[in-house]
Parts: sequence; structure tokens; C-alpha cells
Amino acid sequence: RAKASGRGTYAFFSAEMQTDAMEKFTLKHALAQALEQHEFELYYQPKVRIVDNAVMSAEALVRWHHPQRGKISPGYFIPLAEESGQIVQIDLWVLETVIAQLGSWLAQGLDVKPVALNMSLPMFQRPQFIEELKYLLERYSVPANLVELEITERVAMGDFSYTVSTLRALRALGVTIAIDDFGTGYSSMSYLFDFPISTLKIDRAFVTNIDHDSKKQGIVNAIISLASTMELTTVAEGIESEQEKQLLMLLGCDYYQGFHFSKPLPATEFAERYLPTRAESKSNNALISKGV
Ligand code: C2E
Ligand code: MG
Ligand code: MG
Ligand code: MG
Repeated sequence: RAKASGRGTYAFFSAEMQTDAMEKFTLKHALAQALEQHEFELYYQPKVRIVDNAVMSAEALVRWHHPQRGKISPGYFIPLAEESGQIVQIDLWVLETVIAQLGSWLAQGLDVKPVALNMSLPMFQRPQFIEELKYLLERYSVPANLVELEITERVAMGDFSYTVSTLRALRALGVTIAIDDFGTGYSSMSYLFDFPISTLKIDRAFVTNIDHDSKKQGIVNAIISLASTMELTTVAEGIESEQEKQLLMLLGCDYYQGFHFSKPLPATEFAERYLPTRAESKSNNALISKGV
């Protein structure tokens, strides 16, 4: 854009940079109020078994309804909140909201499915994190195996022995752990030996248009065979078409998420569509076992 503008170039860029810095400053300030003003909401995106489209669990994704600007994407404000340190407050709110939601669905007699949360680095590094998690599970009477944690390689690659002991403690509680955005982070994979994780989430970068791209097919094939050697399940992120889904299924991927099956949904809508009551589940199972 500024390339052809010659002499004005420098001024153009610095003005743009300044606006950008001001914009970030303003948003960080607004973030401070967002929690108090209840401007955050959690959406739930189904994780689906690829062979039969059965909804197995969900991922909680935070949404910010800014009073003036409308919806602001977490892809934009989460990095700002990480810079400013406000991310811990947000992730604590997400943790409590998810566990309270699970408790409320259980109390409504629904056949509840596990929900995954995204963990930022400072949240994961909180020494009191496991205690907080246990406290919330007890407070809302939610079994630990209904909670899954998604961490990126960047989060996992902090202090090695801290990561190993924290993940072991989580695993002992019954919480399962997935590596998010797999394939986009660190190149060393030796941590797969040491970290008690259960799932690799294949980043959307490798999934988008995979049906037209033999290099992506090669990478995803390698990831899936690695996962199967390590006895990990795989989830493909961001499937948008039937063709992408068919290819991932052919390559042996276990689960998927993506707009092709469903966008992230408000809690009520997710429950209405994908959480049957325990009575409904029982009678369905009875019919299935009778071969109906
Ligand atoms: P992520 O954990 O990798 O989440 C997947 C993102 O892909 C979500 O974006 C989801 O809405 C989007 N997505 C799912 N299916 C499709 C698809 O078929 N096509 C496309 N184009 N996108 C799809 P979202 O909700 O904007 O979140 C972006 C990132 O922000 C997340 O990436 C995660 O890293 C972070 N994030 C979201 N919620 C939280 C949170 O509560 N805490 C923390 N620390 N980070 C969060
Ligand atoms: Mg995630
Ligand atoms: Mg991801
Ligand atoms: Mg991603």
C-alpha cells in the first residue's frame, strides 16, 4: 500500500503504527472492565467422531461483546491480554464458567459430555492452578473427567520438570490433555515421550484445502502415524468441507472440529442440540442393544 507513495512512506507507516499502538492501549483498558461488565461469553464447538459424526465433547471458546465495537475475536484480544497479564483473570473466569456450566447441565439431568479449555502460559504456570481446579470441581460437583485442557507447544515448553509434574497431577485427577495447534510450534518432538498427553490437535493450517494439496496430505499422514505409534488420538481442526473430512478420515484421523459440522454455539444452543437427557440416552442405548 505505502510502497508507491515515495516520500510519504515513513509518515504513513508511523501514523499507522501509532494508531495501532493506541488501539491496543484502548482495548487493554477496555479488557480491564470487560469481566466486571460481563462482556465475555463462552461458545461451545462440538468435537465429532469422524467415522459416524457422533458428538463426543466440546471446546469452550471465549467471545468478547464489546459495548461499542461488537464482537472482538479472541485471536485478536487473547494476545493483547497475554501482553498485559489480564489473560489469567480471563482464563480463571473461563475455568469457573465451564465448570459451573457442567454442574448446571448435570443438575438438569443432561447426559453431559467433556468440555475442553484453552490454557494460556501464565495460567498454566500458576502454582495454585491445580488447587483452584480441584476447588471448583468440588464446589460445582463436577467429575474431573469432564474437563479437558488444551495447551500449545509453547505453553508445554516452559520449565520441563514443572510441565511434567503438573501434567501428571492433572492426569492423576482424571483431566485429559491435548496439544493444540500441533505442527506449528517447536520442532523437537521428544517431549511426546515425557508428557502424559492423550491427544494431538492437527492445526487448521494443514487441514484447509488438504484435498487439493499433496504436501499437506504428507504432513497430516506423518502426524497421524506418529500419534498412532505414541497411542495418542488425533483431532483435525477447522474442517470446512466434506472433501476435507473424507480425506482426513482416509488418513485415519479420529475426531474433527470445524464449520462443516458446526460453528461454536452459545451454551444453550449447544445443550439443546447435542446433550440429550440421561433418560433419552438410556432408552436409545436400550434400542441399540436390542438391535433396533
Ligand atoms: P484454538 O484453540 O486453536 O481454537 C480453534 C479456533 O478455530 C477457534 O477460533 C474456532 O472458532 C476456529 N474454528 C473452528 N472451526 C473452524 C473452521 O472450520 N474454519 C475456521 N476458519 N475456523 C474454525 P476462535 O474462537 O476465534 O479462537 C482463536 C484462538 O483464541 C483459539 O485457537 C485459542 O488459541 C484462543 N482462545 C479462545 N478461547 C480462549 C480461552 O478461553 N482462553 C485462552 N487462553 N485462549 C483462548
Ligand atoms: Mg483450542
Ligand atoms: Mg487449535
Ligand atoms: Mg489453531
